[in-house]
Amino acid sequence: MNNFGYKQASNIDDAVTLVAASEKTSFIAGGTNLIDLWKYNITNPAELIDINHLNELSNIEQLENGGLRLGAGVKNADTAYHPIVEQKYPLLSKAILAGASAQIRNMATNGGNLLQRTRCYYFYDPEVPCNKRNPGSGCPAKDGYNRMHAILGTSEQCIAVFPSDMCVALAALDAVVNVSGPEGARSIPFKEFHRLPGDRPDLDNNLKKNELITSIDLPEKGFEGNYSYLKLRDRHSYAFALVSVATTFTLDGSIISDARIALGGVAHQPWRSFEAEQFLEGKTASEENFALAADLILKGAKGFGDNDFKIKLAKKAIIRNCLMALRPETQLPGAQPAA
Ligand code: SF4
Repeated sequence: MNNFGYKQASNIDDAVTLVAASEKTSFIAGGTNLIDLWKYNITNPAELIDINHLNELSNIEQLENGGLRLGAGVKNADTAYHPIVEQKYPLLSKAILAGASAQIRNMATNGGNLLQRTRCYYFYDPEVPCNKRNPGSGCPAKDGYNRMHAILGTSEQCIAVFPSDMCVALAALDAVVNVSGPEGARSIPFKEFHRLPGDRPDLDNNLKKNELITSIDLPEKGFEGNYSYLKLRDRHSYAFALVSVATTFTLDGSIISDARIALGGVAHQPWRSFEAEQFLEGKTASEENFALAADLILKGAKGFGDNDFKIKLAKKAIIRNCLMALRPETQLPGAQPAA
């Protein structure tokens, strides 16, 4: 039995003040990952600060610059089925609906999705070493069972992957994360939000201590014309990605003028290669060019034994998803994926 305190925050400033009052205090929103971590004794907060009822976090609103602001407290399902998200940012809607289960998407919040922790099996077992859970103790995954683990951006310290689907689309869309903390409010470009493990695998992201995610901004450009999200996994639902790919294009006839390709399931953060995207710009949208872009994205990829297959799988997934993005009709509910 774990005893813990509980307080409801009355607004964002109150939430930040309450969470900063003690070292062992934690925000709770949907709780879909926090409760898992707690049950496995990976975390053990002494007090929870409930942010579920904060109106400031609960809206989806259009921005003057033509973009869309997603409140951090909005549920993943409500975001995916919001009419503007469905129409203008279908890549995001599709990625969210590829994640978890309907029940979890009904509980999980947008802010929480960004903060979910790796599903590395060793991380969830407090009986074994793990540099992310207990810095300096070692990484049994490197020489152990590592089928789900990273092939890009790994370090000697950690080879875990970040498990979100939603964040792969947010990375491709160049979203911005808005946060509030003891030092005030600031905005973080999505590509700077999550971290590679380096020598601090205990840190998943670049949030400062006691900062709260308040919203996520989507730019005006939604890529509703040519987009695709492809998730390859062991089961058709309720499974984390072995490899996922979010692709968007702006096309001028058959010529690509803007390309975005983000990968999930392969690194400690959603993975983008700006070199590969620049390579595609001005080129014909062809399978041959997509294969060359895939090689650039996967440059330096390295397997650890059980996950070696991911390198080939990722290349095929990138090519296939780029082809699917050329055929938006394949994104309609019930449509069959392109061959
Ligand atoms: Fe821990 Fe990272 Fe190694 Fe998994 S991969 S055991 S999370 S250090």
